[in-house]
Amino acid sequence: MSVQNYKNYINGEWVGGGKTFENRNPANTDEIVGLFSKGTAQDVADAAAAAGAAFPAWAAMPAPARGNLLYKAADIMDRKFEQLGAEMTREEGKTLPEAKGEVRRAINILRYFGGEGSRLPGMLVPSERDRVHMFAIRKPLGVVGLVTPWNFPSAIPAWKLAPALICGNTVVLKPASAAPLSSWRIVEALHEAGVPKGVVNFVAGSGGELGQALVDAKPLKAVSFTGSCEIGNWLHGEASKRRLRIQLEMGGKNPTIVLADADFGSAVENVVNASFFSTGQKCTATSRAIVEDAIYDKFVAALVERTKKLKVGDGMQPGIDIGPAIDEAQLATVLDYIEIGKKEAGAPKVGGNRLIGDGFSKGYFVEPTIFSDVTENMRIAQEEIFGPVLAVMRAKDFNDALRIANNIPFGLSASIQSTNLSRVFDFVYGMEAGLLTVNLPSAGVEYQLPFGGSKDSSFGPKEQGPAAMEFYSDYKTVYLKY
Ligand code: NAP
Repeated sequence: MSVQNYKNYINGEWVGGGKTFENRNPANTDEIVGLFSKGTAQDVADAAAAAGAAFPAWAAMPAPARGNLLYKAADIMDRKFEQLGAEMTREEGKTLPEAKGEVRRAINILRYFGGEGSRLPGMLVPSERDRVHMFAIRKPLGVVGLVTPWNFPSAIPAWKLAPALICGNTVVLKPASAAPLSSWRIVEALHEAGVPKGVVNFVAGSGGELGQALVDAKPLKAVSFTGSCEIGNWLHGEASKRRLRIQLEMGGKNPTIVLADADFGSAVENVVNASFFSTGQKCTATSRAIVEDAIYDKFVAALVERTKKLKVGDGMQPGIDIGPAIDEAQLATVLDYIEIGKKEAGAPKVGGNRLIGDGFSKGYFVEPTIFSDVTENMRIAQEEIFGPVLAVMRAKDFNDALRIANNIPFGLSASIQSTNLSRVFDFVYGMEAGLLTVNLPSAGVEYQLPFGGSKDSSFGPKEQGPAAMEFYSDYKTVYLKY
């Protein structure tokens, strides 16, 4: 089967011809999902210049008309729904149902922000003065750079592109090299929908090589980044030199607190789901289960039994719960942390190995792994692993659990499993994280409310929901005497 070549998209043209890089299936590394044009610093500069030139006309277009283009792009993606889901599984490894769920979410995000085109609320307040009308109108920023990770290769690009565009900005998108196809499909849909040339630009290639060119690009006014703390912190430093507006969504070490009064069976399911589905590669995945002493032993035993039933394999196959790690480097990181965990906490209660042999030899498969009796200062309790490795910790009571949960530099998501309303509200007010769930898995958020973390996990305004507009627009305030 011939392998398709996916070009970059600059100023309304598909441009390539230079070097390419491979997008391989992490479940079967013999399969090349696509060849992508390897963007250069010049491509980034050209893309930013094209976005700069396209900005005035795009910003001047009535916002509902911009919204119609997002609706059209959503419809185009909807018609290819099955194909897009399968492509995502092949490039990222998550199971087909998870991939389809993500494509659905990306389509919904385009529609949601398409609708914002008819609202884009400004502010109107009464003046203290007679016959003075005072209001603030919302205006776009200009050219925005979008840098995205591989773990949600469609939803994250969608939740940056859609609010950026509806507010009237033009963009340069740099997708993750490990999974660029899903976001390429969104750009293709926007192109087919008739978004004017230069408004959306796509440059794939190594972030290490393109990142500096992006923050140096003269027309750039802002950067929205999702990915690791290391790269986000570096970008922050570079962007600050030019006083670019910046939004960072980064790593986490998310806890689920399980209290003795929880619905036991649901709590087990929620922790297993949040820890291991999508191979533990969700930024909101649970990586610490903090369990009240009274049910600790019973809960660990139930977690282990449930985890043993999970099926690991190629996410295209029916019945598979967990796909592979995204690539060799991520697999190596996970296996390294498993070794660290063995030294710190002893043998895992379940898992702990790379899967090899029939059905596994061509992919990056690892067993879902549980360490128990993990204590607060262990590295597996403090550092992001980003794989199917769960640290279970013992807490004396709720207050102890909350203290342990907060004793980390991160603050992305957190969950509590409890039927005690007072404890739940103590958690809601006391937990230092941006996304909380109650009696649900810590992962699995929707797009209609603000998304983002606190502490070292995030910087800048939140993404998604109406809050997304705050990053991608500014206010112009008017005092008018009539
Ligand atoms: P990553 O290595 O930081 O990469 C993220 C993006 O940054 C990729 O497009 C990458 O390009 C690019 N990049 C790399 N070096 C760069 C540089 N010097 N300048 C500019 N861009 C650069 O993260 P990842 O491995 O893709 O994703 C996993 C991480 O993302 C985890 O830490 C996870 O917690 C975090 N995450 C957070 C959220 C959230 O909402 N908080 C959501 C999802 C993921 P290349 O692919 O070419 O290297």
